[in-house]
Amino acid sequence: MQLREHVLLAPYTTLGLGGRARYFIECGTEEQVRAALASAAERRLPVYVLGGGSNVVFLDSGFPGLVLHITIAGMELRDGPAPEVRAGAGVDWDTLVQGVVERGWSGVECLSGIPGTVGGTPIQNVGAYGQEIAETLVSVACLDRTTLERRTFTARDCAFGYRDSRFKRADRGRYVVLEVTLRLARDQRPRIRYPELQRAVAERGGLDTVAAGDAVRLVREAVLALRRRKSMVLDPADPNTRSAGSFFTNPVVPASAFADLEQRWQGIPSFPADGGVKVPAAWLVEQAGFPKGYRGGGGGGGGGSGISTRHALALVNLGGTSADLLALAEEVRAGVEKQFGIRLAYEPEVVSPSSPPPSRSR
Ligand code: NAP
Repeated sequence: MQLREHVLLAPYTTLGLGGRARYFIECGTEEQVRAALASAAERRLPVYVLGGGSNVVFLDSGFPGLVLHITIAGMELRDGPAPEVRAGAGVDWDTLVQGVVERGWSGVECLSGIPGTVGGTPIQNVGAYGQEIAETLVSVACLDRTTLERRTFTARDCAFGYRDSRFKRADRGRYVVLEVTLRLARDQRPRIRYPELQRAVAERGGLDTVAAGDAVRLVREAVLALRRRKSMVLDPADPNTRSAGSFFTNPVVPASAFADLEQRWQGIPSFPADGGVKVPAAWLVEQAGFPKGYRGGGGGGGGGSGISTRHALALVNLGGTSADLLALAEEVRAGVEKQFGIRLAYEPEVVSPSSPPPSRSR
């Protein structure tokens, strides 16, 4: 465990943006995380905990404290009637999915190709095509930043919601994820809920005539193909993937507000959701005048960034700065709000120089 100084953060992010961290340390074990946190607390340094860098925007000014890069490795796949996988927080998420799918176990196949590390997945209850981590998660082992003690949460404890969990709310910034355990299903055919994926699966011959294990593998292939088509699988050769994936979450609006919207915007797509109606953010962005391939350029000088040519929700670094990207994000957000009265929320975390202090609320 080596403390480094003035480390450029851009290479640690999928956006390729961000200035230097005053201090930077890689932690591959629980003990190392504890020691790094204790030392930062002693020196009163702000701390930012970094995983795969796929959902984060560092400012051009960098980070004035300690960036703690979690590299906890190790993955154990336990076969049985209800197989389980336990993986360190630093394990690449798609490596886990691949290992599970190769064994024909189901439960995470729709989450194929999502960038980032295992440790990041419970924070926002990562989901895709109607499947989310909350459905398979057994437990999350964490280190409490306020007490430096280990604490294990069950799925129920995590208070999962749509792209949401306790780790984003009351306990924001309080816990460092160390390890995640998932329970999969064997000999079970995946349930495909989204028409787009149903079509992609049908194009590959469908699931009806293949064994359950092969069905899981086929779904992974279909998901990867869909995501690649949208430039949502990391690929150094594809400039559209210098992004943080979806930059805005899909808003859920109250039913009454949606009724008003529907009157004004016929054909507005929608899906039922807890607490109201979910409206695809990509549709709002495009309708508000920001098509795929749009180049930033409004007031904030956002010309060094743009919207992916393959997906309206992905803001892409086109050789610019974080300031460019954030100017574009604000331009899009203001445009959508002006047109629809809906304020989009950012999905990635924009790291403020003071870093979120661990919450002490219980
Ligand atoms: P998409 O499949 O084009 O879907 C666009 C929007 O329509 C999303 O809000 C999606 O809801 C909703 N939707 C589509 N079909 C639906 C159905 N049958 N029932 C309910 N809602 C439906 O979205 P995309 O951007 O290409 O992304 C593909 C998948 O990856 C989506 O599920 C998306 O959420 C997921 N994704 C997740 C993350 C993350 O967890 N951080 C990041 C990027 C993409 P949902 O968003 O609820 O699926």
